[in-house]
Order: sequence, then C-alpha cells, then structure tokens
Amino acid sequence: MNKKNVIIVMIDGGRLDKVKNSYIFNILKSKSIFFSNSITYGPHTIAAMHAVFSGCYGSRTGTNSYWSTFKFKKNEFKTLTEYLKESNYYTHADVINQLVVPKQGFDNYVVHDELNDDLIENHRNLLEQMHQKNLENKKFFLYLHYSKIHTGIMNEVLKVYDNYSKEFFSNKEENMLRYEKLFQAAESYLNKILEKIHQLSLEKNSIILVMSDHGISVGEKIGERAYGAFCYDYTLRTFTYFLIPGFEAREVKQQIRTIDFMPTILELLDISLDETSSALDGVSLSPLIQGKSSDELYAFSETGNPLHEKAPPKESNVKSIRTSKWKLILNEYNDTKELYNLELDPDENKNLIGTGEKIEEVLWVELKRLINKHD
Ligand SMILES: [Zn+2]
Repeated sequence: MNKKNVIIVMIDGGRLDKVKNSYIFNILKSKSIFFSNSITYGPHTIAAMHAVFSGCYGSRTGTNSYWSTFKFKKNEFKTLTEYLKESNYYTHADVINQLVVPKQGFDNYVVHDELNDDLIENHRNLLEQMHQKNLENKKFFLYLHYSKIHTGIMNEVLKVYDNYSKEFFSNKEENMLRYEKLFQAAESYLNKILEKIHQLSLEKNSIILVMSDHGISVGEKIGERAYGAFCYDYTLRTFTYFLIPGFEAREVKQQIRTIDFMPTILELLDISLDETSSALDGVSLSPLIQGKSSDELYAFSETGNPLHEKAPPKESNVKSIRTSKWKLILNEYNDTKELYNLELDPDENKNLIGTGEKIEEVLWVELKRLINKHD
C-alpha cells in the first residue's frame, strides 16, 4: 500500500487576518487547499487540539477545558496518532508542554523549551530524521508545534495585563504591532520549515496540514486580552492549508470545523474507522478538497470565561453555534444570549438577540441539542 506520511505544522495562536496578507502564507495558499472559514472547537490549545486529534467535540471526549487533559476518555475515543500507529507509522510530536495534545499513540513525545529552544533548527532536524525513516521504509507522522507566538503573548500580555486592563484595550494599534512582530517570526519559521520539506521532497509523499488552534485578541472586546474567555471569531476562526500530492490548489470558503481534519486525513490514507470506537463529530472534507459540494454543518464551540478570577473555571460557561452566516452565543454565567449576522457584522458588534430574526430559534434548538447530547 502506498501510504503517505503525515506532517502537521501547528502555528499556535495564528490569526486568520494575518495570513491573508502574508507573502509566505500566500505562496503556501497557491499550492494547497486553503480553508478560509475553519472553526475551532475551543479557543485555547488543550481543548482545541484534543478535538483535532479525536475528531470529536471535547464535550463528548471529556477534554472541554484547560483542566481536563486527563479526563480524555481514551478508551472510547481513538486519536489520529493511534490510527496511524496501528497502520505502522512512526509517530513523533514536538510540543510546548505535556498537556496540549493527547499522548496516546506517540512513539516519541518531546516537550521543547518554549523560551530557549530554536524551533527552526529543532524542527528542521526532525524533518531530516523523519526522512531517514522513509529511507528505512517506514512512514511517519510528525506533529510540530510552533509555540513562540504564545510565548510572546504570555510574556508581554498575559503577565502584564488582566482581561479588563484599560491600558490594553485602549491601545489596539500597539497590540496589533506587538502581535505582528510575533507573527513575522512565525512566518520565518514556516518559510524555513517548508523549505526543508521541499529540500527533502517530502511534499511528494506526505499530507501536510498547516493550521492554527485559535486566534488571539488584539483588544477587540473588553474582557479578553488574549484568548479562551469568549467565543468571538477573532479567536474561533482559524486557518487551514492542506498540501496533498496530486490535488489541485483551491480555496474553500464554506464553513468547516477543525474536528473534520482527523476523518479527512484517515480517508485520504484509506484507513477505516474503528467501529468499536465512539462515532465522530467531524466529517471528511475529502469532497470539498476535490472541488465537490458538501453540506455545510454547524460548528459548536465552548470555553470557560474566568470573568474576574485569575484562573479559568473547571467547566465551560460560554457556548456558541455557528454557520457561515450566523452565530448564537450562550453565556451560561449570566444566562444571556447573543446573535450576530456574520455576513453584515463580522466583528460581532450588533447583538440581534430578541429582534425577531427567525434563525434565532433554529440555532437555539440546535445548540440545546448539542449541549444535551454531550452532557
Ligand atoms: Zn494555543
């Protein structure tokens, strides 16, 4: 069987608006299937990445908050890594800490030092090592976590301001400049990684996914200085590029969910789902990748707003449901709802709840169904 390698390059905290104007990302776009409306399940790394690896919402897998890595129901939900491991892949992760992605199935799970390590050098070396595996007739799965945007935000925002700091929210321009500097370093990183991939001809025998787990605030909404407090699009809407040998480049504008990546990769590799595992929430994006049509599905997201506490709550208290056009948010901590027309109001400033929009009830019924199904 002619199986391909799998490489995931995860730009932690990458904002969609920045890739759209990026020279490096636009070169990548010209070669890949670019999903410009990808919605994450959780606007923070742990919930986001467990959902990606399991193809399921954290409300079902158990990993639905900052605190729930060890609640992941590993006997019920099989991860992408486990599927690949069972298909005889060598599996390696290079990550920011012990908690962010499920360890199940990894031959090697290496935690880098986000403050001191040179990720360009480390990850280029890893690509060399993986290439060596191919030469030994072994396929590989490599997960590369680019953590430096997070590190910069941690040092320059999280440690300096709180979610209500006037100084932060009144200096959006400065916040954007700070973010752009961190983003430029991510571009250089990606450029060097893609260069190495090309040098080793890995794009010819690998499925390569370049993605971000969530965006990061530059001061859009008071109450969230970085991410993880709200369910607005500047954190929920992410970017996704699939480089797949033999597939034409295209942009898919229809809404998709990051839980769809896992079934997509399995289908592309002809690996069938384990019927003894729980059913997936995600669906394969293979039709869209081939330019065929596919029904748009609802995207569910949730997070735990810390409000005035220092740490996020154990359970999520903000939930949202989204289509390309509309979003309904439920704030469980004060029992309020918000409704936005994302086409006319992409920055989500005009709350249309209770104004008679018919879609409100449709989304509410669907959100309740998702919440109850998962409880
Ligand atoms: Zn993250």
